[in-house]
Amino acid sequence: VMIKVAVNGYGTIGKRVADAVSAQPDMEIVGVSKTKPSAEALIAGKKGYPLYIADISKKADFEKNGIPVAGSVEEMVQTADIVVDATPGGIGAKNRQLYEKYGKMAIWQGGEDHDIAGFSFSSSCNFDEAKGKKFARVVSCNTTGLCRIIKLADDAFGVEKVRATMVRRGADPGDAKRGPVDAIVLNPVTIPSHHGPDLQTVLPEINIVTTALVVPTTFMHMHILQMDLKETGDRDKILEMIKDHPRIGLIKGFTGIKSTAELKEYASDLGRPRSDLWESCVFEDSVSIVEGKELYLFQAIHQEADVVVENVDCIRAMAGENITAAESIALTDRSMNFEA
Ligand code: NAD
Repeated sequence: VMIKVAVNGYGTIGKRVADAVSAQPDMEIVGVSKTKPSAEALIAGKKGYPLYIADISKKADFEKNGIPVAGSVEEMVQTADIVVDATPGGIGAKNRQLYEKYGKMAIWQGGEDHDIAGFSFSSSCNFDEAKGKKFARVVSCNTTGLCRIIKLADDAFGVEKVRATMVRRGADPGDAKRGPVDAIVLNPVTIPSHHGPDLQTVLPEINIVTTALVVPTTFMHMHILQMDLKETGDRDKILEMIKDHPRIGLIKGFTGIKSTAELKEYASDLGRPRSDLWESCVFEDSVSIVEGKELYLFQAIHQEADVVVENVDCIRAMAGENITAAESIALTDRSMNFEA
């Protein structure tokens, strides 16, 4: 039986989730939604996704532009087993009632608070806990990146504490409205940033303090991470574990890649759809152990992509057959021709 998935909010994240779901052998897209006729609405139609709209009184606006409308979002929800809500942060909370009304499972994104579902998800950390849940929230792009690497270090040597700085992209590549164009913005200026507490919604035992700033770039965030380990670290072991991790890629020194610009070129040369890097990108030459127990590294996180594969795993954990995290991750990745 195929899991019927609706994507409410066919934007940056939603359109990627729709394509990733379509590539899976055990799930299908029954509908996606938009609020206004737009280029993305046109693409949804071209891809054959039934298009539903939030405000059905706008139907004529779509149809006069040659974009067929299958019905209202409320109707879409009824056709699905599970809804991935990828509407802009804050809007998703308003949709909860609708999912409850029809008894549907739902997954929200990192722009919503943890409380919306009471359960925050990361494939590498708590896949099994999603089983039997009605509601879940996939943590943000930055938190997903932190979860993967901190869990790995914790499994290897135990993590005493984490101190991390997020250098964040100013806007997504398709976003013409946001900035900064010429500034380094302390965002937030207060310390710690919200990323640490967000990580603790998945890994509550981790002692973490995060800081964040925003720079004028559109492709990827860069994390500067320092972890105090409980046991003496072993660089070779960490590198080996990163190599074996399905969702963390090791950027080898010989490639010459030292920037997000070169990572973007690499992703497009790989032929990845939309140049998406679903894996966290750890720079091999940055991985350092100082004074035995201090681990340092740089990792780049593709904000538009890393959460996409996590949404697919979360759907499978909640609505699919009983399988393990490793099996789901392997199936998700294989179906998308993704090898980290
Ligand atoms: P987006 O603005 O690109 O897309 C949101 C889509 O929702 C738009 O297509 C819009 O048409 C649609 N929409 C708006 N109101 C709606 C409504 N009432 N009903 C149905 N659809 C509606 O936003 P995004 O960047 O994809 O972000 C979505 C969520 O994912 C947010 O919670 C965000 O924090 C999170 N997220 C974003 C990124 C990122 O880098 N863009 C990364 C990780 C998580």
